[in-house]
Amino acid sequence: MTILTDIMTFNEEFVKEKKYEQYATTKFPNKKIVILTCMDTRLTELLPKAMNLKNGDAKIIKSAGAIVTHPFGGIMRSILVAIYELQADEVYVIGHHDCGMSSVDTEKIINKMVDRGIDKNLFTTLKYSGIDMKDWLHGFNDVTESVKSSVDSIKNHPLMDAKVPVHGLVVQPDTGKLDVIVNGYDQ
Ligand SMILES: [Zn+2]
Repeated sequence: MTILTDIMTFNEEFVKEKKYEQYATTKFPNKKIVILTCMDTRLTELLPKAMNLKNGDAKIIKSAGAIVTHPFGGIMRSILVAIYELQADEVYVIGHHDCGMSSVDTEKIINKMVDRGIDKNLFTTLKYSGIDMKDWLHGFNDVTESVKSSVDSIKNHPLMDAKVPVHGLVVQPDTGKLDVIVNGYDQ
């Protein structure tokens, strides 16, 4: 059995037994919030539970490190669509301690890529095209600073509605304890 087979077998039962009914909701977030957080596996269920969020309560965008990597990239686009089109009135950036994107060893990742067959020369080509892999792969050294910086990029984005509060928080991935780094209502 592969994982895909497992998933598809389970899914058939899930749909047949109408287990989806308890999750029925709409595409509009009931609590009118959009969250940007990390893809960390420890947060999958823990974070919504720790915030008292149920299916349908929030738009949740996930990326490695909860970082807004580019002002016109997919993360920022998702936040703007959530605000202008999907009725989100507040933004929450939630980083976490012990994040895989903190102190990323970019050299090590590049070596692993080469080990798996990526042509070494490609990195030189990319560099000439303006893509420095070390910058691109680099996460952050301090989660608090990273959250503040993501809050700033969102808050100061030229297409952002200035009235929308942008909060910054850090969560403990083992206990779910949240600390407020930036209170968006104060801005
Ligand atoms: Zn993380």
